[in-house]
Order: sequence, then C-alpha cells, then structure tokens
Amino acid sequence: MPKPILLLNCGSSSIKYQMIDADTEGVMAVGLVQKVGDPTPGTIDHEVDGEEFHDSTYFPSHTEAIAAVVKMFNTHGPDITEAVAVGHRTVHGGTEFNSTTIIDRAVINKLVELSGLAPLHNPPGIAGIRAAREILPHVPHVAVFDTAFFAELPAAAYTYAIDTELAKKYQIRRYGFHGTSHQYVSGQAAQFLGKDISELKQIVCHLGNGASLSAIDGGHPIETTMGLTPLQGLVMGTRCGDVDPGLHAYLGREMGLDVAEVDTILNKRSGMLGLCGKTDMRDVEAQMLAGDEATQLAAEVYIHRLVGYIGNYIAHLGGIDCITFTAGIGENAAWVRKMVVEKLGYFGAVLDEEVNATRSKQPRRISTPDSQVEVLVIPTNEELAMVRETIRTIGA
Ligand code: ADP
Repeated sequence: MPKPILLLNCGSSSIKYQMIDADTEGVMAVGLVQKVGDPTPGTIDHEVDGEEFHDSTYFPSHTEAIAAVVKMFNTHGPDITEAVAVGHRTVHGGTEFNSTTIIDRAVINKLVELSGLAPLHNPPGIAGIRAAREILPHVPHVAVFDTAFFAELPAAAYTYAIDTELAKKYQIRRYGFHGTSHQYVSGQAAQFLGKDISELKQIVCHLGNGASLSAIDGGHPIETTMGLTPLQGLVMGTRCGDVDPGLHAYLGREMGLDVAEVDTILNKRSGMLGLCGKTDMRDVEAQMLAGDEATQLAAEVYIHRLVGYIGNYIAHLGGIDCITFTAGIGENAAWVRKMVVEKLGYFGAVLDEEVNATRSKQPRRISTPDSQVEVLVIPTNEELAMVRETIRTIGA
C-alpha cells in the first residue's frame, strides 16, 4: 500500500505541488499553478507517470487554485483522498516554531501573527493551508518551516547589534532560510563521503534564484547568510543581499520613496537583474561570453560576495572538510563553481576541472583526490526532505 503525502508550496502568485509515496519516496504526481490572484487567466500543469495535463482558468485566490489542483487529481489521478498527510512549505516560523509542526487553529493564528516578518511569503502559505484543510479535513496537515533548521544558531550569530528591547519586542534576529535544503544537503554530503555528519565541518552553498550559505559544524548550523528576511547575504537573482543598512534611509530621502517602495527596489530590482539586466545565470553567462562589461562586473560581484562568506565561515568553523554546491546555479553553473573554488587554493581546495565541467544530475565530487577540501555537487530535494519531515512529525 502506498503512503501518499501531498506537498504544497504556495507562493504569492503560484502553487507548486507534489504527491510522493513516503514508502518508496517515488513521485506520484507533480504540478504547478501559475497566475494565482491575477486578473488574467492562469494555468495549471499536472504530470502523472510522465504524462502531462494542462488547464487554464481564472484563479482569483488560492482557494480556487487549490480547488483546481483537486480537480486535476480527480480527473487524471492519483486519488488525492488517499493522501495520509499534507506538508505545507512555510517560510517564516519566527521564534515560535523551531521544528515541523502539526497545524491546528492555534498554529494558524500564530502564523497570521508572524506575517509581518514575511509579508511576501507567509500570507499565501496561510491561504494554502486554509484551502487545503477545507478540502482534506480528515488528514494531518503539517507546516515545514524554512527557518527551523537555523533555530539553533548560536546567539552571537543570530543577534543583531541593535537595542535589545526593540529586538525582543519585534522578534528581530537572524532566522536564516532554505533550512530544509541546507539540512538535507549536509546530510547527503556526509552520506556521500561515508562519514558521520558529527565529524564534518561543512559549508553548503544553496545557489538558486534566492541564495544562501550555511556553516554546519558536526551537523549543527553555526552561521548562515540570510537574516531577519531572505534579503540579507549573497547577491541573488533580484535581491541585493548585503548593503549598507543606511541605504534604505538614503534612497527614501533622495527619491522620496516610502519604505515599501525601497523594499521593492532591493527585493525585486536589484541583485543580478539590477547589475546586468538578467536574473538567470544562463543568460548572465551568455552575456559575459559576448564580452558585456556590466555582466562581467556583475559576475565578479556575485563571486566576490560568495568567496568572502566562505572565508568567513572557514574561520568560524575553525577549518573545513567539505564545501557543497546545490540548487539551480550550484548544480548547473560550472563556471560559478570554478570561479569560487579557484579562489580557495589557500585552504587547499583543488578543482577537478574535467569533472566540474561534466553535466550530471548525480551527487558528485568535483575536487581532485589530493585536494585538502572535499568539494561536492549534491542536488537538493526539498520535497523529499519535506516528506521525511512530515512522516517523522505525524509518527506514521
Ligand atoms: P529557486 O528555487 O530559488 O527559484 P532554483 O534553485 O530552481 O531557484 O534555481 C533557479 C536558477 O538556477 C535559475 O534562475 C538559473 O539562474 C539557474 N540555472 C538553472 N539551470 C541552469 C543552467 N543549466 N546553467 C546555469 N544556471 C542555471
């Protein structure tokens, strides 16, 4: 008997979903709803056993979008009512939620209270939870938090140097995000190396559209680049990452903008997009090869920030055994990995250029046998990590 788990990842305008059999860990269905909350018709793509099904209609809110997901399951299978649990990707758990949590009314109320910390991410997640609970009321729903893995960061790492009372009142601290991925990939890296995770000093580079690094000592996170929000840290597709905090006030004053407008500039119009007009690293590479100077500089800024954090983390870890690249850019952009690892020669990292340049979907070592640091590429699988978390939490 399969043990299907439905996974929902509700963004502001999209819903990604999967049904995974927790026993075999095989994907039973995968789909995507786009243009939720849009005045124009949206699309839904549903895939079962390699066969794709598409539909298009209006999705005024997440409720209609989830209803469309259920219709897809009802029409094309598998049977959604066989789901034994639903796992909801939930971006911000604040200080309240340190681990995966079974959702009840009180949890939903707490999530609503936390929305101020993640105004772009938590409200669509809550809408998805409400809609899914109405449709599947008899199975446990669990919230898997992006922040949970980093709940045990040391206080020196998570504390901002601001007024303590303010920090307490408004729950201001470093939270870190992509925790599910950092936890999963660091576990996979240890397994790949045939080592116990407790023996390893690791850095995980999760480089996707959003990007973050973590320093993990013996399986425990001791540093990460994202902060109160996912804006801090690395240069990202459209997010600036670290800037002088005075920039907000300066831009507001000079441009006559309110805080929301400045926030939009830094979140949506910055990063690689702001520097060279492209967010996708494939386009960035093409423009770079065509000799575009702004793109060359953008790539250098991207690498500079990344290498700076790696050096910082090696100091905090007091050494380094393993650096792992993951997510869309980390898994696919060989030139990014090459530019980074070439800067780490002082620490004894040596890249095997041939293996690095070879495309593969498998976990692999891209350092040479005599490299003093293991450099790996491990595909992340946040869905599988969510399934395992969901099963562990409901005790099935
Ligand atoms: P997210 O989940 O944050 O949206 P992903 O981890 O899926 O992001 O990564 C998406 C990014 O990965 C794309 O924007 C692109 O920059 C990068 N990417 C995907 N495929 C390739 C590739 N073949 N070469 C270089 N970069 C790639």
